[in-house]
Amino acid sequence: RPLGYAIVGLGSYGLGVIIPQFANCTHSRLAAVVSGDPAKAKRVAAEHGLPNRSIYSYADFDRIRDNPDVDIVYVCLPNSMHAEYTIRAARAGKHVMCEKPMAVSVAECEAMIAACRAANRKLMIGYRCHFEPYNLEAMRLARTGAAGKVRYVRSEHGFVQRDPSRWRLKRALSGGGSLMDMGIYSLQAARYMTGEEPIAVTARESTDRRDPRFTEVEDIIDWTLEFPSGAIASCQSMYSANQNHILLMGDAGRVELEPATRYDGNHMWVGKDGREREIMPAPGPAKTQFAGQLDHFADCVRTGREAIVSGDEGLRDMRIVEAIYRSAREGRTLRLDGRS
Ligand code: NAD
Repeated sequence: RPLGYAIVGLGSYGLGVIIPQFANCTHSRLAAVVSGDPAKAKRVAAEHGLPNRSIYSYADFDRIRDNPDVDIVYVCLPNSMHAEYTIRAARAGKHVMCEKPMAVSVAECEAMIAACRAANRKLMIGYRCHFEPYNLEAMRLARTGAAGKVRYVRSEHGFVQRDPSRWRLKRALSGGGSLMDMGIYSLQAARYMTGEEPIAVTARESTDRRDPRFTEVEDIIDWTLEFPSGAIASCQSMYSANQNHILLMGDAGRVELEPATRYDGNHMWVGKDGREREIMPAPGPAKTQFAGQLDHFADCVRTGREAIVSGDEGLRDMRIVEAIYRSAREGRTLRLDGRS
C-alpha cells in the first residue's frame, strides 16, 4: 500500500502546496492532518476522506503513535517548531519529513538527528529542488563537464515581504530573516552545483533597521563560499526584491536557470563554445518535484535506504548558515574546514 503521511501545519505550504500533490504520487497518500484550527482540520479531512480519528491538534499530536495509517510525519510549521515536532514524531515511532530550513540552529539539527536515530526512524528535509527536472539536469550537466571545469556559481533568491506581522519576520519563530528562508536555496544551489563542500565563507548584511519589517531579522545577506577545487560561489538572499536565479560558469561554458527554483515555470539555458540554447529537459522522474520528493521518502522508508537529502544534509547547511551570520557579524572570513 502507499505509505501514509500526516501533514503537520495546514498553512500555505502544507495545505496549499503539499496536500494536493498526493494526487500525483504513486507510493504516498495523505493519512492524517495536525492543526491548531479544528474547523479547518475537519474540513480538510472530510475533503480527503480521512476518518475523524486521523485529525490531531498540537496538544494531542503524540497520540499519532497509535495510528497505524501514519508512517511518516511531514512538518510544515514555522521554522522554530521544526525541531520539537520532528523529535515528538520520532518518539511516536514515525519517520519524519521536515521542511527547510531544517531548524533554527546546529544544536537543534543535531538533536533531531539523534532523536530519529534513537527511534530507528528516517529523517528527510523537504529540499524539493533535488527532484525538480531543471535542477536535476543542471546538476547532471555540471557533473559531466558540459560547461567545462566548474569555476563559479552565482545564486540569488528573494521575494518582497510586505506584512511586518508575518512569522517569517519574527525571530522567535523564523530563527532569522531572508537567509533562513530563501537563502537556503542559494546555499543549496552553491553546494549541489559545485558538488563540493565549502572551506571558507565571507558574508555581509544590509538591513534598514528603521523599516518596521526588519526590526528583528535581516533583509539582504550576501556571502561568498570558497571550495576546495578553487571554485567560488557568490550567493545572496533578500526580503526586499524578487529574485530567483542560479548561474554556473565553467571554463568552457555556462548553465543558467531563471527562474531557477520555483514550483513551476523554471527556465534553463546552456552556453558552450559561443553557442547558446534553451534546454527543455525531458519530463523528470516523477510527475512533479513534490510527488518526486514525497515518493522518494516513502520508497526510502520501505526499502531502508537513506534519503538523498537526509537530516545530515540539513545539518551541513545549518553549519554554514551559522557561519554566514557570524562572518557578517564579525566582518571577517571564516574557515569551515577547521583550519585557521
Ligand atoms: P504559513 O504561515 O502559511 O503556515 C504555517 C502553519 O503553521 C499555519 O498552519 C499556522 O497555523 C501553523 N502554526 C502553528 N503554530 C504557529 C505559530 N506559533 N505561529 C505561526 N503559525 C503557526 O507558512 P508556510 O509558508 O506554510 O511555511 C511553513 C514551513 O514550510 C516553513 O518552515 C517554510 O520555510 C516551509 N516552506 C517551504 C517551501 C518549499 O518550497 N519547500 C515553501 C513554503 C514554505
